Amino acid sequence: MDNKSGCFLFKCGGKKNKHVVESSENKIETSSALVKQSIEGDAYDYDLVVIGGGSGGLAAAKEATALGAKACVFDYVKPTPIGTKWGLGGTCVNVGCIPKKLMHQAALLGEAVEDAKAYGWQIPDAENVKHDWAAMREAVQNHIKSVNWVTRVELRDKKVEYINGYATFKDAHTLTATTKQGERTVTGKYILIAVGGRPRYPEIPGAVEYGITSDDLFSLENAPGKTLVVGAGYIGLECAGFLNGLGFDATVMVRSVLLRGFDQQMAKIIEDSMTNKGVKFLHRCLPKSVKKLPDNKLEVEWSNDKGESFTDTFDTLLLAVGRRALTKELNLENAGVVTVQDKIDAVNEQTNVPNVFAVGDVLLGKPELTPVAIHAGKLLARRLFGNSTLQMDYQNVATTVFTPLEYGCVGLSEEAAIEKYGADNIEVYHAYYKPTEFFIPQKPIAYCYLKVVASLEGDQKVLGMHIIGPQAGEMIQGFAAAVKCNLTMTTLMQTVGIHPTVAEEFTRVNITKRSGKDPNPQSCCS
Ligand code: FAD
Ligand code: NAP
Repeated sequence: MDNKSGCFLFKCGGKKNKHVVESSENKIETSSALVKQSIEGDAYDYDLVVIGGGSGGLAAAKEATALGAKACVFDYVKPTPIGTKWGLGGTCVNVGCIPKKLMHQAALLGEAVEDAKAYGWQIPDAENVKHDWAAMREAVQNHIKSVNWVTRVELRDKKVEYINGYATFKDAHTLTATTKQGERTVTGKYILIAVGGRPRYPEIPGAVEYGITSDDLFSLENAPGKTLVVGAGYIGLECAGFLNGLGFDATVMVRSVLLRGFDQQMAKIIEDSMTNKGVKFLHRCLPKSVKKLPDNKLEVEWSNDKGESFTDTFDTLLLAVGRRALTKELNLENAGVVTVQDKIDAVNEQTNVPNVFAVGDVLLGKPELTPVAIHAGKLLARRLFGNSTLQMDYQNVATTVFTPLEYGCVGLSEEAAIEKYGADNIEVYHAYYKPTEFFIPQKPIAYCYLKVVASLEGDQKVLGMHIIGPQAGEMIQGFAAAVKCNLTMTTLMQTVGIHPTVAEEFTRVNITKRSGKDPNPQSCCS
């Protein structure tokens, strides 16, 4: 051990690596255990073996090799029940954020075609403007394939070995997978579990045979037509939102509330805005069965909380009832890694087995978001192979729901702030606002709303920021940095806005809910 630098030096995969002694007890134990293995002369094929070539796994592997480590990534996609499969890159690139955002954009463009007429654009035959699902699907899928290709090239350039096989544990340092070239077994000093998750199916007759999930939707051959979306989380609402925007009849079946865990006043405004655009909601309902009719339509039966039953026919049943972490398939018992409800309860990304780590959607109680997986993966690689001690901060991670009106937020919801600090100790500032682009053509402002949840103490530290409106995702990103820097209401109110933007509305907010004053805008430029 080099006492001055506080680093252990040990040999692995033919290279010398530094492992920084972390301040926590946990980390010191890890280092000691690994040094012991090294002293005993264990040699591993790789410094880091990653299971899962998605957002978190790829980020960690690339960072590891950039720091001089030897790394490989196992990635394999099991086809969906209807046979959909995809390439390297994980959920975000293939069946998540990217195709979702592109289809969200397609829906916004449909609205823009309408708006353009009010600005003098002459669109011949405007009433007959139609959307071509097949053309959009092809463009989206072509983009995805190009990303798959670039990802493979990048891995080669960065000297990360890509193994196209489904990996399982033989022991805490050994993984095995069946590949096209045959059985492949590799050993690693550190193993990173970054296997993400896949959609769940409700346990009702016909769900797996006739239902599809977000894993199938973005590459669906035929236009989905009249669609029943089961589930009112991020995925259910976003998919229903863009399907409706593309001109399809979309209904959302809600088990309890929309966007559970989010600020419920904001969730209600999202529901109202989607309803205003034509999405239908079935509240407090659960699906019972689905069967295929001779004309290929799907007959879905459901019941409400009063026990009443209903049926209707749909062209597509989209199941968006949450996701399951892919841990059961890993033979984790061979490594001694324990799970909690299929997820991994890691401390600083380290599992109960010192050399086995986890990042991304597979982690228990962490936000299931791409940038979270990437950030955690990079920081972990820097701690393992660089001199870093920086830990991932999972607090105040901003997120946006694209419905297609966007809801961006960071920090605590009003409910969570009340629960944590008490209603008497927080102040909620709020406002409805009218984006300039909503004047031509005239659009309702009922859905353009923001709120800032702040502490009542001193300069009023901002605890949460929420905004619904166009480009909310772009706005909340910058405010998230301010919240991380302990933004206060005093500072926010002293910040000069950029006019005419939507983001400036955050700098103008001054009405508290407690005051009972009207939060509606007085004029366009007040
Ligand atoms: P993944 O990206 O899921 O990668 C895991 C990889 O491991 C997969 O390729 C999987 O096939 C593979 N794998 C699993 N088991 C094995 C095994 N045993 N052997 C080999 N390979 C294996 N997040 C956002 O931040 N913004 C968004 O707008 C957004 N939109 C989304 C929309 C949808 C429809 C969905 C489904 C998700 C969305 N997300 C979004 C969430 C985001 O996609 C995930 O948080 C992110 O992809 C998680 O990354 P990961 O590395 O944990 O896992
Ligand atoms: P989710 O947000 O957990 O939503 C699941 C929904 O399904 C909830 O409304 C839930 O209702 C409902 N549900 C669960 N079981 C059901 C059943 N048996 N029958 C009927 N309804 C049922 O999950 P998700 O939408 O699949 O999203 C997963 C994760 O992906 C999210 O947490 C998010 O982190 C990530 N994601 C992010 C984005 C983004 O950043 N824009 C977009 C998409 C996904 P209850 O509330 O009653 O449980």
